[in-house]
Amino acid sequence: MSGSTVERYEDSQLYRVRHSASHVMAQAVLEMFPGQAKIAIGPAIENGFYYDFDLPRPLTPDDLQALEQRMRQIVEEDHPFVRRELTAEEARRLFADQPYKLELIDGLEHGGIDEHGNETDEAPVISTYSHAAFTDLCRGPHVQNTREINPHGVHLLSVAGAYWRGDEKRPMLQRIYGTAWNSPEELAQHLEMLEEAKRRDHRKLGRELEIFVFDDEVGPGLPLWLPNGAVMADELERLAREMETRAGYVRVRTPHLTKQDLFVRSGHLLYYAESMYPPMEMEGTNYYIKPMNCPMHHKIFGSKPRSYRDLPLRLTEYGTCYRFEKSGELFGLLRVRSMQMNDAHIYCSEEQFEREFLAVVRLYLEYFRIFGIEKYVMRFSTHDKKGLGKKYVDDERLWLKTEEMVRSAMQHGNVPYVEVSDEAAFYGPKIDVQIWSATGREFSLATNQVDFAVPARFNLTFVNREGKEETPLCIHRAPLGTHERMIGFLIEHYAGAFPLWLAPVQAALIPIADRHIEPAQRAAARLAEAGLRVQVDDGPERMNAKIRNAQLRKIPYMLVLGDREAAEGAVAVRLRSGEDLGAMPLEAFVERAVKEAADRR
Ligand SMILES: [Zn+2]
Ligand SMILES: [Zn+2]
Repeated sequence: MSGSTVERYEDSQLYRVRHSASHVMAQAVLEMFPGQAKIAIGPAIENGFYYDFDLPRPLTPDDLQALEQRMRQIVEEDHPFVRRELTAEEARRLFADQPYKLELIDGLEHGGIDEHGNETDEAPVISTYSHAAFTDLCRGPHVQNTREINPHGVHLLSVAGAYWRGDEKRPMLQRIYGTAWNSPEELAQHLEMLEEAKRRDHRKLGRELEIFVFDDEVGPGLPLWLPNGAVMADELERLAREMETRAGYVRVRTPHLTKQDLFVRSGHLLYYAESMYPPMEMEGTNYYIKPMNCPMHHKIFGSKPRSYRDLPLRLTEYGTCYRFEKSGELFGLLRVRSMQMNDAHIYCSEEQFEREFLAVVRLYLEYFRIFGIEKYVMRFSTHDKKGLGKKYVDDERLWLKTEEMVRSAMQHGNVPYVEVSDEAAFYGPKIDVQIWSATGREFSLATNQVDFAVPARFNLTFVNREGKEETPLCIHRAPLGTHERMIGFLIEHYAGAFPLWLAPVQAALIPIADRHIEPAQRAAARLAEAGLRVQVDDGPERMNAKIRNAQLRKIPYMLVLGDREAAEGAVAVRLRSGEDLGAMPLEAFVERAVKEAADRR
């Protein structure tokens, strides 16, 4: 797979099947509410499709079942999909009673917005796809005929509210989610995975395990880390610090606010303003809250003259950034507005690039090993000529050169990757890392980016061996992503049963009777002294209830203390899985637990 180009999902047969199923669903909905249903957009998405509708009443589970039945009939009727190009005027006549489509037609006509409301730089071609009596404003692609959709591979999952265009000031629509697969077996497997994902949902477990909360008065997308979540964040930072210190990084700290000028110079206000919060004015100067830490690290590099002896300079910081995400797109910890990032910038010469770049890739792999992430893909994202000067810094020669440097580094390092065009950062190519959780859910976590443009904008230089000034390259990397995404992922990956080193509470001490509370507290003090996080359950419940409670909280160890244990300086050890390890001397347990935590097993 090294260096291969992946078939994009958008080009696959399953994508066409799902997109076509969304049209079939829209037809069924229009039939259910003749003359009343207004249709918005209906794309294929990961693992399925949705369609947004404006309907006279809320849909019920029975409606979904009826719609699914009707979809099966339509599919089996063997309708061809027919594409047609038309002018904006013709399209307006065709969709005269569909206000959302009329708005999309305006967008298409004026260019820049596609039929799903997304920005595009392609020339506006207006086309429709028809099957049976249903016609949709659509650029496709679709299957040739509804019979390519397996009628028993389709299932409607749920209805959710969704603002038109993700804008809370626009109407709230009903979004029907569906899924479509090649066979009923594949469908069943997917539904099973969804059930497991529901049990592991980080929003549900995050609340139950008291890891984080959101508060209306604080604001959407701004998580508050509870003590248990803060422990996890601290442990991740400790891990990063250990790994980075060993790899020769140095730590820095930077403010959350900076003057507008800095983001003008960095290019963020030119290429990235949409994801930034509006400026605030202080003493006649505009300040921005930072969406990234890079410009400040560049300033630290530039804070004194540098020579080749200072390079590579690896600056690292768990920096807090703020990015604007539409409220309709926020999702638990995975899409947030404030984030603490495992950020670093490596300044190096061209000769040092390959070594540094591969060291970063290996760091990723080392983290995957620690977290037991077995499935991952490195996606090498390159520029697209069409985006030069718009999405991308306008210097084709440097793009091609840097992309080649990354390609050859990956090949020399024998790192498997897939190449995708038109997904680079504005300042250079990047490696996006997609990982899969234990249940097979995909997360895109971290990126490793090469920057050939911004160091020059900051006039960053170093004096090379020949005594000449040279501009360094900069590698941006964040293998642990942000605390928000990483912990969201880890909650689902481990289903809340974290390995000892990450567990907020590592052991619960369970005294059998009141007379054992005091020896339990003494044992707890000894464990805490050894660096373990413990709690004594001195509540009035009986022992079994306490054990159940600790299991529900997914505490790795339960240490039960009765007369015999108290007399012998021992604890009876149970695991959260229910396994009973029997009694062992307290010191033996300390040794075992300290080693297990240190090994991060
Ligand atoms: Zn369509
Ligand atoms: Zn950066």
